[in-house]
Amino acid sequence: MIPGSFQYHRPTTVADAVRLLADLGEDARPLAGGHSLIPMMKLRMATPEHLVDLAAIAELKGIRHAGASIVIGAMTTQKELIASDLLTSALPIIRETSLLIADPQVRYCGTIGGNVANGDPGNDMPGVMMALDASYQIAGSAGTREVKARDFYFGAYFTALEPGEMVTAVSVPVPPAGHGAAYEKLKRKIGDYATAAAAVVLTKQGGRIAQASITLTNVGQTALLAEDAMAAVRGTSLGPDVLARAAAAAEAITDPASDGRGPAAYRTKVAGIMVRRALERAFARAAG
Ligand code: FAD
Repeated sequence: MIPGSFQYHRPTTVADAVRLLADLGEDARPLAGGHSLIPMMKLRMATPEHLVDLAAIAELKGIRHAGASIVIGAMTTQKELIASDLLTSALPIIRETSLLIADPQVRYCGTIGGNVANGDPGNDMPGVMMALDASYQIAGSAGTREVKARDFYFGAYFTALEPGEMVTAVSVPVPPAGHGAAYEKLKRKIGDYATAAAAVVLTKQGGRIAQASITLTNVGQTALLAEDAMAAVRGTSLGPDVLARAAAAAEAITDPASDGRGPAAYRTKVAGIMVRRALERAFARAAG
């Protein structure tokens, strides 16, 4: 299918991009890597009259330390996330997750900003950012603001972004050294979205879990924070009973669709299995 016609804009600063998005209103959409938006346009599920390409805005690129956080520019590609030594050492779950997204061709273009702003429950980064308690830096004509990933997603393709706003960066607090993290994703084949996936970030003290965040991907309208599962593992050394309780608590909050990836009941069970696997791997990786 061929997309509908549109006008193409290529600003070189965030200020110009925000001005364009504000002036053009709801008929305009930011264009990042295009690997979600262009397929939607080809299917005529999105018909923007204006595309504001963010590719020439240098200030949206790069990965840097900022105090106790790492700030990732919105136009940083998944390939660049994988190649980053800083992320590999401080936030290895981002590299691990990026390697499970799509295939090398998609990862060469797909950006972190597009992945978190898209609002597709199948995207992998929203759940990971919720597990890491990251925030999104947002720019609009009224100025800038920051929204926690955990407060950003309202429903499928429905986020906290107001018309004319864009994500400029993702800010991730660096978990303590010795933390353990894991992303487990079941997919039918390379390049597929998750049947179900789970992210875990935890710290240990004296062989017991001190803090744990658990999130789920593609088993609801948005990525889900599994708070009861988090409470079930806190203070424990993760024996079989605890794993079973955590998996059951996670399964209880899912509401997946029955689709080509399987019936809803199967996808719910897979979510529980992903939680078990991610917990076991994160626990084994954590020091303390
Ligand atoms: P775009 O497609 O350019 O934009 C996506 C949406 O976000 C658009 O609505 C756009 O207007 C908006 N947007 C983009 N940037 C910003 C910004 N900075 N601020 C505000 N709004 C913005 N993703 C996964 O997570 N897991 C997968 O397994 C997976 N598999 C895939 C398989 C294939 C074959 C393909 C084609 C894609 C797959 N994807 C997957 C999606 C891919 O990761 C996308 O690249 C990503 O979801 C969107 O990033 P993008 O940079 O391409 O954004």
